[in-house]
Amino acid sequence: MNRAHTQKGNAGVGTVNPFLRKFPVRVACGAVVACVVYLSAQAYLAFPSASKDRSVAPDVPSEPVTTQPEPINLPLLPRVDYDHPPAPRFVSHRIVAGDTLGKLLTSFGTDERDINRIVTCRDECRQLHKLIPGASLITRLTHDSRLISIGQSLPYGQIREYRIYPDSVEVTLSPLARQTIPAFKHVVIRPGESPISAALRKGGIKEATVLRATQILEYDIDFWRNVHPNDEFEIYFDQIFVNDEHVQDGAIHVLRFTNRGRLHEAYLHDDGLHYEADGSAIQKQFLKAPLAYKRISSNFSNARKHPILGYTRAHRGVDYAAPRGTPIRSTADGVVSRVTRNDRAAGNFLAVKHSNGFETRYMHLSGFAPGIRKGTRVSRGSTIGYVGSTGFSTGPHLHYEVIKNGRHLNPLTVPNPSIESLEGPQKSIFLANVENYLKTIEGFREQDLIAEPIAAAQ
Ligand SMILES: [Zn+2]
Repeated sequence: MNRAHTQKGNAGVGTVNPFLRKFPVRVACGAVVACVVYLSAQAYLAFPSASKDRSVAPDVPSEPVTTQPEPINLPLLPRVDYDHPPAPRFVSHRIVAGDTLGKLLTSFGTDERDINRIVTCRDECRQLHKLIPGASLITRLTHDSRLISIGQSLPYGQIREYRIYPDSVEVTLSPLARQTIPAFKHVVIRPGESPISAALRKGGIKEATVLRATQILEYDIDFWRNVHPNDEFEIYFDQIFVNDEHVQDGAIHVLRFTNRGRLHEAYLHDDGLHYEADGSAIQKQFLKAPLAYKRISSNFSNARKHPILGYTRAHRGVDYAAPRGTPIRSTADGVVSRVTRNDRAAGNFLAVKHSNGFETRYMHLSGFAPGIRKGTRVSRGSTIGYVGSTGFSTGPHLHYEVIKNGRHLNPLTVPNPSIESLEGPQKSIFLANVENYLKTIEGFREQDLIAEPIAAAQ
């Protein structure tokens, strides 16, 4: 093919073309060079390696150019973009179940020699042979159906490209472009929605991020019990994009959650922790709840009719209804002070001693977490046991008590001391950061108002 072109081209130079004769030599030379460049491009198209990065000589003579005595007037030449050789044929195909590489290449009209090469190429083409339904194959062919390359689409817009050379197949992977872009969302919770479902409706924020956000404020807001319609939150965070696809989120810089009209704020400090606007700690001694529960089946009270014993007796804790096996967390740092199995009333029963004279008790457990025994050190939030219905119990639930210096407190209203607020220079740095954060989200708020209809339409 190339040889045929070449001979034709040489003939054009040798025989005196009556059209060319009328023009100055210079123009004729230009035309010859143009012709050679065109032929080189054709050669490139057939075997990109041959003319670009390999020393293998293609069937194109290199002599005629060197015989030109005069400088070449470049602007007269046809432009050849070697990165985008003219006229390759692209065939893009979305893979469906049942496709095979051989069948597809045949249907694209690929030269049989190249089909055989790809089908018998084992090591380099191993991943190409596994066709994944839904992924795309982008096949590049020369005008005479020789295979130049096959691109395989991968997640996040990445392409694995197989370049077909005369004696080898070269595999390259397009790089992933990772970008961190600050984002702001204002989410209003509708009836029946959790913060997570509200955020997902809003879009542009990952479920895991909302979950992290609830954990930041779980000392102040009981997200299982106390989130209401028209509660709202603003979140300023980093979205992480890989090849233009929003794959995950990074840091949560600012979180402002208005719960029943009361604003709870969290601002990220350089130490990776969140603090309130004045630098005081968000983390409190006690978590708001020892588990993810469905409902509170019985509240703290000083006098109540016991469902099994039948007589009126104070209920000195809170009953949380939850499925059997739900993990129970120690609500504060402490040391396990009591592990009792099969107590007649309390069933499997745990107590943990904390600082400031506090003790917490957990009853009716189905079992204890591994390694939990008297004297075990536990941290706030660590799993200590699982919900059950042992002892006097009418169904799976956790009976939870908080005791201070021997007196029972209502766990839902227990005073909760803050821990480790910022002081001194750290506090000054933090307060300056908060000021910047507030300025930033003020700008975002204006944008968000404009962006809202678009977000809603998605
Ligand atoms: Zn109870």
